[in-house]
Amino acid sequence: MLKKIAKLVGILFLLLVVVLLFNTFKDSSTLPKYTVEGAPATNDSAAVHLSQAIQIKTISFGDTLAIDTTEFLKFRKFLETSYPNVHAKLQRQIFNQFSYVYKWTGKDSALQPYVLMAHMDVVPVEAVAESKWTVPSFSGTIKNDTIWGRGAVDDKVSVIAILESVEQLLKQNYTPNRTIYLCFGHDEEISGKRGAKVISNWFKEQNLKPAMVLDEGGQIDTKHFKQLNRPFAVIGTSEKGYANFDLSVEIPGGHSSMPAAETAIDVLNKAIEKIRAHSMEPAITPTMQELLNRTKPAEKFANRLVLSNLWLFKGLMIGQLEKTKETNAMVHTTLVPTILQSGIKDNVIPTVAKATFNSRILPGQTSDDVLKFITNAVNDDRVVVKKQTISLMEPSPITPFDNPEFKKVEQIIYKSVPDVLVSPFLMIGATDSRYYRSFSNAVLNFSAVQDVKGFHGIDERIGKTDLNRMIFFYNQLITK
Ligand SMILES: [Zn+2]
Repeated sequence: MLKKIAKLVGILFLLLVVVLLFNTFKDSSTLPKYTVEGAPATNDSAAVHLSQAIQIKTISFGDTLAIDTTEFLKFRKFLETSYPNVHAKLQRQIFNQFSYVYKWTGKDSALQPYVLMAHMDVVPVEAVAESKWTVPSFSGTIKNDTIWGRGAVDDKVSVIAILESVEQLLKQNYTPNRTIYLCFGHDEEISGKRGAKVISNWFKEQNLKPAMVLDEGGQIDTKHFKQLNRPFAVIGTSEKGYANFDLSVEIPGGHSSMPAAETAIDVLNKAIEKIRAHSMEPAITPTMQELLNRTKPAEKFANRLVLSNLWLFKGLMIGQLEKTKETNAMVHTTLVPTILQSGIKDNVIPTVAKATFNSRILPGQTSDDVLKFITNAVNDDRVVVKKQTISLMEPSPITPFDNPEFKKVEQIIYKSVPDVLVSPFLMIGATDSRYYRSFSNAVLNFSAVQDVKGFHGIDERIGKTDLNRMIFFYNQLITK
C-alpha cells in the first residue's frame, strides 16, 4: 500500500515538473532586437541653458506659503531670450501668471494633438542640507560634463530639453504634422492646482483630446532590476489613487494626575496599530503582469520558471516584491499615518485625538475599499473614520500597451539606448499629468534619462549625455 502511494506521489511530482518545464519552454518571448541610432553630439548651449535655468530660484515652498514672484518672472524672461524662435513662432498663453501653454500648429488639423509637459518649479533645499552639497545648490555649476543644482533632474531638464529640440527644429523651418502643445506648470511640487489643473480644464473646455500627453515619471533604470543585466526603461501608463482618511476619538479628558484606564489618545493609538498590523490584499495588476512578461526573457532560468508558472508561484512572487518598499508599493494599496493631533497642555488629558492616514490605491481597488478595510481593522465604534473628499483621486485608467503612442515612445527608446528593455509600469507617486487622464487615451510618463542623481535630495545633477538623449528623444517624438 505504502509503495503504491509513494509511486503515485512520484508520478504526480514528475507530472508537475513536466508542466512547469513545459510552461517555461513553450514561452517563445525573446529579447527585442533593434538598431541603435543614438543621439547626435552634445549640444553645449543646452547645458548652459540648463545651468542658467537652475540659477533662477523658482521654488515651491509649501501649499500655503507665497512664492517669490520676481524669480518666476525672471524665469519667463530667461525663456524668452534663450528661445527666440519659440517665442516668435509659437502662440503662448499664460495661466495664473506663471504657467504657460505654447501652441505649435501642425499641418494636419485632423490629427489629434500631442501635449509635452514639464514643470518649472523646484523643491527647496533645507538649510541643514546646503552644507552637504558638493557645490552651492542653486549654482548650476557645470563640471566633468555634468550640470549640478536643484532642478537639474526634477524637472527643469525637461523644460530645457523640450525647448531646445523645438528651437532647433524651428531654426530649420520645420512644421510638425500634428499640432503640439508645450505645457509648463509652475506649481507641480505643491499639487499643480494653479498650473496643470487649470490648463487641463482649458483643454477640456476647448474639447481638445490629445492623442498623447507625455510627462515626467519613468526613466531608464539601471539600479532596481540589476538581475536583468541591461538598462530597463519604464514608461508610466497608470497612476495609483490618492486618498486621505481622518480618524477621530472623543472621550472626556481631565486632570493628568488621575487618568482613566483608557484615554482618547490610547484608543486612537490602538486603532493605528491595528491598521498598521495588516495590509490590504496584494494584487498583480495588468501593468505589473506586463512588466513581468517583458522582463522574463532576460531573467535567469529559475526566475523564468517562476514567472512562467504564476498559477503556482504567485504567492512566492508577491513575497519577493514585498521585500523592498518600492516594489511593495507596486502590489499593494498602501496606508500610513502622516498627521497626528492631540493635546494642548502637559497636565491636561485631551478630549479629542485625531490621525490622518494617507493611502495610495492600486488600480482595481477603490477608496471605498480602503474605507471598509480601515473600519473593519479598527472594529471600535469610538473611532470615527471619515474619507476626505478634497484631495481624493481614484486610481487612473491604464493606457493600453498596444496604444500607437505607447508603441512610438517604445520604438524611440529602442533606437536611442543599446540593449535596453522597455516596459509599462504603475506610477506610485502623483504627477501633473493625472489631470489629463480623464480625456486623453495615452497619458505616458517618461524621461529619457539614465544616470541622474539626487532629485529632491543632495547633489542633484545630470550628465550632458542624458540631457542630449532627452533632446534627441523629443526631436524624434515630434518629427517621426
Ligand atoms: Zn517633478
